[in-house]
Amino acid sequence: METIKKQTKYIFVTGGVASSLGKGIISASLAKLLQARGYSVVIQKLDPYINVDPGTLNPYEHGECYVTEDGAETDLDLGHYERFTNIHTSQANNVTTGRIYQSVINKERRGEFLGKTVQVIPHITDEIKRRIKMVASNQKYDVVITEIGGTVGDIESLPYIEAVRQLRYNLGAGNTVVVHLTLLPYMSASGELKTKPTQHSVKMLLENGLQPDILVLRSEKHISEDIRSKVALFCNVDKDAVVESIDVSTIYEVPLKMLDQKLDVVTLRKLNLDYNKKPDLENWINFAHKVKEPKKKVNIALIGKYTELPDAYKSIVESFIHAGAANDTKVNLKYINSEKLNPENIDSVLGTMCGVLVAPGFGNRGIEGKITAVHYARTNNIPFFGICLGMQCAVIEYARNVIGFVDANSTEMDDHVKYPVIDLMEEQKNITDKGGTMRLGAYPCKIEKESIVFNSYKKEEISERHRHRYEFNNKYKEEFNAAGMKTVGINPDTNLVEIVEIPSHPWFVGVQFHPEYKSTVLNPHPLFVSFVRAALNYCESKIQK
Ligand code: GLN
Repeated sequence: METIKKQTKYIFVTGGVASSLGKGIISASLAKLLQARGYSVVIQKLDPYINVDPGTLNPYEHGECYVTEDGAETDLDLGHYERFTNIHTSQANNVTTGRIYQSVINKERRGEFLGKTVQVIPHITDEIKRRIKMVASNQKYDVVITEIGGTVGDIESLPYIEAVRQLRYNLGAGNTVVVHLTLLPYMSASGELKTKPTQHSVKMLLENGLQPDILVLRSEKHISEDIRSKVALFCNVDKDAVVESIDVSTIYEVPLKMLDQKLDVVTLRKLNLDYNKKPDLENWINFAHKVKEPKKKVNIALIGKYTELPDAYKSIVESFIHAGAANDTKVNLKYINSEKLNPENIDSVLGTMCGVLVAPGFGNRGIEGKITAVHYARTNNIPFFGICLGMQCAVIEYARNVIGFVDANSTEMDDHVKYPVIDLMEEQKNITDKGGTMRLGAYPCKIEKESIVFNSYKKEEISERHRHRYEFNNKYKEEFNAAGMKTVGINPDTNLVEIVEIPSHPWFVGVQFHPEYKSTVLNPHPLFVSFVRAALNYCESKIQK
């Protein structure tokens, strides 16, 4: 087949019937497959809610807030995009209705609409189209995948569907593909998969002027040829463009399931792109195999206050899967609510753990439980990893129990504390807005050669992503170092402490940044890999004893 690579091609991923069907994973899987065939791909998420970004949202709303290199606070799907494709995303890769309206309204205030009435069509839809094209123009990509959040039929999704309809019209045949993801519910009483909700959802898209090209059907059972034919006929799609997405034990299998059913081939065919090159997925297949068939197991406690919803710690959970595979190990994460921890029950809760991770977080609630967990891990020589607030808790615990600053805390928890070992940076003190005002995004850090972290990273200069307001208080730096908690990672530009360690402990590391945002399938994060190894060693030597 002739290769036509004249312009950027656009894939739109919509969802119907129900939310949480895994559009993000399907988008990321498709991106991975196209990448494996040599195409450059970028993925973007459009979110129909009115928050300007998810930075101010409680994690129980939409799960974790993911942070990009350039400091955008974004939807957790961007984390999947990066973990699957190994490509950094940015502010442009996540756009909400709030952001769209904000820029249209700002333009109106500047008088740029020249007296026109500002309306959803064309002004909001034009802004949506501009944002979709913007990701492509930043860098030349062969394919842009745009995932539309929400469910078709929601009032708030309408302007997005209309914008996609217009873009398809503007770009012409063969340059766009609409992939619609729906659910086939299984009725156990009659033993049937039902297609009617899918048919209705496609009708709804058609009412809005959009004919899907490919249907991905989420289902707990395999779909038969009959069902494929029926869905194809009633929804006007080619039979080979009806693809099942069956429940799998790990999301990392989804690209391989999609490959089996030629989702990539059908997509490329519809975009008039060459699909003869064999996909290079060797690393991915090896990784998926390691995830599914681990040789060892290790129990690690994840201590936080949003433990009812694992999505709240999505990137940490995925980082453990990557680091587990690198160690041929299945990491069993035990979610522990820090509000329920106290010195009386700590031994029964953490006694069987091979490692303890204290998670990021905000505010006072659950903080003393986290500090109790740090104390237990430190004094029992259990490998400990503190991330952001977890690092801050480690600093507070050390101040209180080793240095003797009995009244030590972060000023986030107590404004008038005697020893504010964690404190607001000067430039944060006059900030009143909550959205987008933390220390966000990538910052450099220089690490000392004699340290656990150097042994993990194997380099002195690193860069990691941040999302916090409070910092290690440099006023107390000497006391900590003298007492055995070493400040081994420093921001070379600002002198802020980014990493603390206790060299007399087998593996005790606290990091002010969020390493979990940078762990991918191809590049498992060195600190997670090293922490899992330490946890394995700890439990193995415990058994030997
Ligand atoms: N609440 C702390 C701060 O703002 C830690 C934030 C975090 O863990 N992401 O500094």
